[in-house]
Amino acid sequence: MGLIVQKYGGTSVGSPERIKNVARRVARWRQEGHQIVVVVSAMSGETNRLIALAKEIQAQPDPRELDVMVSTGEQVTIALVAMALIDLGLKCRSYTGGQVRILTDSAFTKARISNIDDLNLRRDLRDGYVVVVAGFQGVDEAGNITTLGRGGSDTTGVALAATLAADECQIYTDVDGVYTTDPRIVPEARRLKTVTFEEMLEMASLGSKVLQIRSVEFAGKYKVKLRVLSSFEEAGEGTLITFEEDEKMEQATISGIAFNRDEAKITILGVPDRPGIAYQILGPVGDANIDVDMIVQNVGHDGLTDFSFTVHRNDYSRVLEILTPIALHIKAREVQGGNRIAKVSVVGVGMRSHAGIASTAFRTLAEEGINIQMISTSEIKISIVIDEKYMELAVRVLHKVFGLDQPS
Ligand code: ADP
Ligand code: ASP
Ligand code: MG
Repeated sequence: MGLIVQKYGGTSVGSPERIKNVARRVARWRQEGHQIVVVVSAMSGETNRLIALAKEIQAQPDPRELDVMVSTGEQVTIALVAMALIDLGLKCRSYTGGQVRILTDSAFTKARISNIDDLNLRRDLRDGYVVVVAGFQGVDEAGNITTLGRGGSDTTGVALAATLAADECQIYTDVDGVYTTDPRIVPEARRLKTVTFEEMLEMASLGSKVLQIRSVEFAGKYKVKLRVLSSFEEAGEGTLITFEEDEKMEQATISGIAFNRDEAKITILGVPDRPGIAYQILGPVGDANIDVDMIVQNVGHDGLTDFSFTVHRNDYSRVLEILTPIALHIKAREVQGGNRIAKVSVVGVGMRSHAGIASTAFRTLAEEGINIQMISTSEIKISIVIDEKYMELAVRVLHKVFGLDQPS
């Protein structure tokens, strides 16, 4: 008997039939004597529909009002799931983020959780209720509704599991675990039985949407036992995120290939090569609350250098707006941009002890005639930026060359 947090994603609650299916699963866990907290997303497609609707009124929707609106998607689902559970004869209560008091900062559309008031939830669990909580949303100090960024229900799930010291946080989705790469792009991808927390962190941050990165960060910080499972299968152990590299297991050198086509590249050509220049360029970008990902500065020639970096595609036009006057001010030659790029990354803790991974990756891409525009590496990952049109090809050939399609 334990306390389990189960999070169900959009597809898993995408129709009345699927919601009833979720309720039946929850009922089985209850019958086994577990206390259950259910976290749900909006029904599939609903968040996109709401965002598109907002954009019909205001091209760049006001962030506060956008959060008021998109948070309704999850509010609908909690009520439907609660009804389905009550219909099965279970005691159940639904809560919005604000009703729980999932406290966040005020960064609308990308808020961070700062505190969770677990009083009501604990009381309900003690009294035998299943508690159903809306994912993706919270409330700031002033009482404004906030949302946690796309995919944020994962983070609600893990944060609740951490607060309640749950025995396990189960992320139910439309695949039966974490794969060596997105199985929708590479059908030969294989499910990983375990993946280390560090690898999962890299994969999530490099574009594997199966878990929102902040949920993995939370799991790491509070040592939450986290598992990804299919909501469509009756049984199955899914993928467990582990904290220790299991020495007994034959660790593959590479665990997965992640990719991301949500980025854009900005290059400033002919920048005077002097101290403080990176700060002059990136300071104002950071001040605008825009995250910068890869940064490359070339070796200078004749006192000039080129400076490139990537940002989320949504921030692309804003960054060009910010940098055009700055480029003029620092007397750079030109600002160039491109948003038809993709980032492909090879991830694995085994890289630490194996040389030659990078050269194998570069050779493989060269053989396919794929030009590399930027490279960045860490101990356990190699990321490259390429033309977006080669992304799927790059993912497939890298997946194959590192033997990820072979049973381990
Ligand atoms: P949910 O709505 O349940 O939160 P998401 O669409 O956010 O589901 O995440 C699940 C999807 O993540 C899968 O359908 C799959 O296409 C995608 N995905 C990307 N990379 C991976 C990976 N390495 N392993 C499994 N799924 C992945
Ligand atoms: N409904 C939100 C989204 O589509 C949150 C989530 O599904 O995790 O991004
Ligand atoms: Mg998701």
